[in-house]
Amino acid sequence: MERGVKLSGSLLPSEEEGLGMRVQRGNVMKYAERINQLPPYLFAEIDRKKKAAVDRGVDIISLGVGDPDLPTPAHIIQAGQTALAKAANHQYPFGAGLLSFRKAIASWMTKRFNVDLNPAMEIYSLIGSKEGLGHLPLAFLNPGDVALVPDPAYPVYKNATLFAGGEPYLLPLKENRAFLPDLKAIPASVLAKAKILFLNYPNNPVAASAPRAFLEEVVAFAKEHHLMVAYDNAYSEMFYEEAPLSFLEIPGAKDVGIEFHSLSKTYNMTGWRIGWVCGNPDMIKGLATIKDSVDSGAFQAIQEAGIAALENPASEPFVKDMRVLYKRRRDLFVTAMTQAGWTLPRPSATFYIWAHTPKGFTSTETAGKLLDEVGVVCTPGVGFGPSGEGYVRFALSVDEKRMMEAVERIKKVKWTT
Ligand code: PMP
Repeated sequence: MERGVKLSGSLLPSEEEGLGMRVQRGNVMKYAERINQLPPYLFAEIDRKKKAAVDRGVDIISLGVGDPDLPTPAHIIQAGQTALAKAANHQYPFGAGLLSFRKAIASWMTKRFNVDLNPAMEIYSLIGSKEGLGHLPLAFLNPGDVALVPDPAYPVYKNATLFAGGEPYLLPLKENRAFLPDLKAIPASVLAKAKILFLNYPNNPVAASAPRAFLEEVVAFAKEHHLMVAYDNAYSEMFYEEAPLSFLEIPGAKDVGIEFHSLSKTYNMTGWRIGWVCGNPDMIKGLATIKDSVDSGAFQAIQEAGIAALENPASEPFVKDMRVLYKRRRDLFVTAMTQAGWTLPRPSATFYIWAHTPKGFTSTETAGKLLDEVGVVCTPGVGFGPSGEGYVRFALSVDEKRMMEAVERIKKVKWTT
C-alpha cells in the first residue's frame, strides 16, 4: 500500500496537518467548547469520496500528504539503533533535551545561518515542531488576547490559539504580495490586543519564501507593537535556489522571537518526532513551563539520532541529493501541468505546488473531481484558510513515475462548468 494512504480511521488528504478525524456535532458525548469552536470540518466530502474510491478498488495516487516518501538515511538509523540499546536512554528524558543535542543544534545554526545561540538558555528540544507550536499559545495568551495567524497556513497556529482561549486574527497571504502578509493593514484595535505573530517561510501551503527586507520589517514591527514572533522554519533545508534565511539572522530578532525547526522534512524523519525551538530565552522558558506539565521530553535515543543527522558528514551529501530529487520532481510536474493548461508557479522551496484551480471550480470541487474521476488526491486550498480558496495544494511526495502518472490522469479531466 502506498505510504500516506491510511485505510483505517480517517481517510483525509492531510491528516498530518491536523485536519484528521474530527468529532461530529450532535454526537452524544459532550465535547468541550474548544473542540466545537474549531473551524468547520471542510474535508468531509473529500474524505467520503476517498473512502468510496478505496472501496471501489481505485488505485489512488496521493499528492495530499506532506510526508517524504523515502526512508531516513542509514547513518541516522544506525545512530538511533545504537542509542536505543543504551540503558541510560530508557528513562524519562525531561526538560530541554541532551546538552549534546543542543550543542549540535547550536553548531548547526552557526554553520547554516551564522546565528549564535546559547545551548543552555536559547535552545529547547521538541517532540516535533508541531508540539512546540501547539503548546506555545498556552504560555502567552490570556482569554481574549489575539494571535496574528497567516491565511492560508498550517492549521496548528490557529487551532492552538483557540485552545488557549485566544482569538486568531487572519493575515491574508496574497499572490500579488508574493504571499507576504500586509502588516500595515492590521487595524490598531487588533494590534492593541495582539501578543503573538505566527509566520512560516518557506511556507506550507503556498510554497513562498521570505526576503530579508520582510524579516527586517517584522522585527521592527514586533518591537513597535510589543509582539512575540513565532517563526516556523520547518522547511529551511528544502530549497532549490537561494538558501532560505533564519529569522534569527536579523539583528534584534532574538529580542522579539523564537524559531521552530524540525528534522522531519530535511532527513525524512517525520515519524521520529524530533525538532527544536530556539531564540528568545524568556519565550522558551514560558513554553518549557507548559511542556513540563504535559510531556516529559523527547526520547533520548531519538535525540542521539538527531545529533547524527546534524553532525555526521554523510548528512551533507544526503541533503544535497534530497534537493536534487525534489527539484527534478518540481520541474517535471510544473512543466507537464503547465502544458496541460494549469496555472502554477515554480516554487523556490518546499515540496508543495500551490496551483490555481481551473476556471469556474472551487478548491473543494477541484479536489473532488480529481479524486472522483481519476483517483488523484490533492488538498483543497480553503482547508488552510479562507484565502486558500481558488487553489489546491499538490505535495510531491510520491516517486517520479507515480507523480507523472498522476499528471497523465489529471490531463484526462474535462473542466467544463
Ligand atoms: N510546520 C509546518 C509548516 C509543517 O508543514 C509541519 C508538518 N507538516 C510542521 C511544522 C510540523 O513538523 P514536525 O512536527 O514533524 O516537526
